[in-house]
Amino acid sequence: MDTSPNQESISPKGFNIVRVALLTPLRLLFDYLPLQNNTLISLVPGLRVKVPFGAQEKIGFIVAIGPDSDVPAEKLKYILEVLDEKPLFSKPLFELISWAANYYQCSLGEMLKTAIPGWLRKGKKTDIALKYKTYVPSEKTKAHILNVAQQSAVTTVYQAFNTFQTFLLEGITGSGKTEVYAHLVEKALAASKQVLILVPEIGLTPQMIKRFEERFQVPVASLHSTLTDKQRYHAWYLAKTGVAPIVIGTRSAVFTPLQNPGLFIIDEEHDLSFKQQEGVRYSARDLLVMRGLKENCPVLLGTATPSLETLHNVNLGRYQKLTLPTRPGNAQPPRLHILDIRHKKLMEGLSAQLLGKIKEHLASEGQVLLFLNRRGFSPVYMCFDCGWIQQCTHCDSKMTLHKKHNRLSCHHCLTHQPIPESCPSCKAFNLHPIGVGTQRLESALQEHFPSHKILRIDRDTTQTKGSLNATLTEAEGGGAHILIGTQMIAKGHHFPHVTLVGILDVDGALFSVDFRSLERMGQLITQVAGRAGRAERLGTVMLQTCHPEHPLLNLLLEKGYPVFAKTLLEERKAAALPPYHYHALVRADAKKTEVGLNFLQNLKMRIAQQRIPNFRILGPVPAPMERRAGYHRAQLLFQSPDRGLLHKTIQTLIKTMDNFPTKTVRWSIDMDPLDMY
Ligand code: ADP
Ligand code: ZN
Ligand code: ZN
Repeated sequence: MDTSPNQESISPKGFNIVRVALLTPLRLLFDYLPLQNNTLISLVPGLRVKVPFGAQEKIGFIVAIGPDSDVPAEKLKYILEVLDEKPLFSKPLFELISWAANYYQCSLGEMLKTAIPGWLRKGKKTDIALKYKTYVPSEKTKAHILNVAQQSAVTTVYQAFNTFQTFLLEGITGSGKTEVYAHLVEKALAASKQVLILVPEIGLTPQMIKRFEERFQVPVASLHSTLTDKQRYHAWYLAKTGVAPIVIGTRSAVFTPLQNPGLFIIDEEHDLSFKQQEGVRYSARDLLVMRGLKENCPVLLGTATPSLETLHNVNLGRYQKLTLPTRPGNAQPPRLHILDIRHKKLMEGLSAQLLGKIKEHLASEGQVLLFLNRRGFSPVYMCFDCGWIQQCTHCDSKMTLHKKHNRLSCHHCLTHQPIPESCPSCKAFNLHPIGVGTQRLESALQEHFPSHKILRIDRDTTQTKGSLNATLTEAEGGGAHILIGTQMIAKGHHFPHVTLVGILDVDGALFSVDFRSLERMGQLITQVAGRAGRAERLGTVMLQTCHPEHPLLNLLLEKGYPVFAKTLLEERKAAALPPYHYHALVRADAKKTEVGLNFLQNLKMRIAQQRIPNFRILGPVPAPMERRAGYHRAQLLFQSPDRGLLHKTIQTLIKTMDNFPTKTVRWSIDMDPLDMY
C-alpha cells in the first residue's frame, strides 16, 4: 500500500483500510478499518482520528487509504472517531512535515505532534466555538522612506513573489532590516497573501506585534512558548483560516498552516533557538527554506551576523545575498576597543579603565550596557582552607551561587541546595565565591553607583510572565542607567540610549573545544556591540581580554564580521568541518558509562563493516560533560561530505536499532547538530 499522502477519498463501504500515524515516537504506521457505523464521512489523508491502541485510545493522522493490509482482516480494529472535517494541513505542508520526519529521523507521528498545537494533540475538535478578541485598529504608524539599499532589497524580493528563491538580508545592526520586512509585508498584503515571520525565542515581544498591528491595521497572530494551549490554538486558527494576514512566531511556528502563503521571513537567522535541542531536533530555519520550496514562496533570512551555513549557501549560489551596509540617518556604527586586562586588578570583573569609562558616560547621561554571559552571583563556591568546591551530585559541573535565593544551583539539571555554612569537607568557615556572574556584577556596581538605576536582564530576572517585556521596555526607554545582561540582550532589541557597551569576558570562547565557539563569539560581540549608538549619539564598545593579540579577535574588531566569517569558513574547509561536511550525532544516555559506550560501539561496528567511502566515524566517546542529570552521556559522530550518503546510512542503521534491546539506553539522533558539547 502506498504510504504517501494522496487526496483521494473513499466511501467507507466495502473493504478499505485506513493507515494511521499515531502521535508517538514509534516508527510504524498502523492499519484500521473505517468508522464502524458511519457511511457519511469521507476519509482523506490529513484528518485526525481517535483509534483504539491496546487498552488505550490514541490520536493519530490518516496518512493513506488503500485496499489491503498486511494484518489479517479479523485482527483489524475500527477507527473510533474522526476528529476533523477537513485535513489540518495543505498538501505541500503535509509534504514538508513528512520530509522533516524523514530528514530528522523521527516517526511521522512525532513530527506531526510537534507540528500541531497542544490543543489538537489532545484530540480537541477544531470547530469549537472560540471567543475572538475583536480586533481594534490602533493608530496607524507611518512607513519610513527607504534608502537605496533597502529599496533594492525590497524590489529584488518582490520580484521573486510567487516563486521559490532564498535571500540572505545581511544588514549591520540597526541598518533597517525590520523596515525592509515591513515594506515586503505591505506588498504581500496588497496581493492578499499571508506572511510568516519567525523570530528567536526571546525576540518576540508585545512591542514587536504592536509594531506590525499599528503599521498595517490587521490582526497579527503570534505563536510563542508562553501561550496557554487555547491561546496558541487560537492564533494557529487565525493563521490557518487566513483571518490573520501576518503570523509571527518562534521555532515551532514554522509549521503553522496558512490559507494563502506569500512570503516567509526569519529574523536573526543565526540564532541557536531555531534548532530544537531535545525531542525532534529540527532546524526551523532549514525547514522554512524547504517550506518555501514546497509552497513556491520566497524566503528571506535576515541578520547582521549570518551563520556560516547560510554564507556557504550564498557562496554556492543557492541563496542570493542582499546587503544593507549603513544605518539610516545619522546613526554611526560603534567604535570598538580592546582592553588588555593582563596583570590588571579587577574590581568584580571590571578593570579600572572600564570603570572609568562607565563613570564618564554616566556623567554625560549616556546609558551603559555591560555584557556578561554568566548568570548567578558566582560560578564557583570554594573552601579556601582545603580547596573543596561544590559540585552537582547529578552532573559533572560546579554549582553556581545564587545569593538572592541563598542557594547553590546547577544550571544543567536545575537542582539546587542551601549554601553550606562551613566546608562539608574540612569543616572550616572559610567558604568564598570565585568568579563573577551578573548578580555579583550588579551588586558591586550598585555599591559603586548608589544613585544610578541598574537593570539586570538574564533568565533569573525575567522568569515570571510579563517580566521580560516589562524589563525590556524599561531598558529601551532609557529608564535605567546601567543595563547588565547575558546573551538575552543580544537578540535584536533596540536600546537607543546606550552609548557605551562593555564586554567583560570573551576569553573562554577563544579557546573552547567547540569548533563553533569562535563563530558564536563573533556573532555575540557584533550583536552586543550593535546595541550601542543606535540613535544620534556615537557608541563606544570596550572589550576586556587577556588575549589582546588573538589574531581572530583582532580580525573581527578591525575588519568586521564578514571578513572574520570568511576566514572561519576557510578554516572549516581545511579542517573538513561543517558546512563543508555534514554531521549526524548519535547520543546514548545510560546510568552507567560502559552501557552507552558499548551500545554505540556496536553501532559503529555495524557501519564500519560496510567500508563506505567518504564516510568517517568518530567515537564513541563520553560527552565532554559526561554526567548530566544522573545520566552518563556518550556520543558517536558520523561525518561525510555527501549529505545523501550520510542520511541513507543512518536510515539503514535506525532500522537495525529498532531491534536492539535498549531498555538500559536512551538513544537519539541529531542531524546537523549545533551543540555537541
Ligand atoms: P534592524 O532590524 O536592522 O536592527 P530597524 O529596521 O529596526 O533595524 O531600524 C533601525 C532604526 O532605524 C529604527 O528606529 C527604524 O525606525 C529606523 N529606520 C529604518 N529604516 C529607516 C529609513 N529608511 N529612514 C529612517 N529611519 C529608518
Ligand atoms: Zn574545606
Ligand atoms: Zn546538575
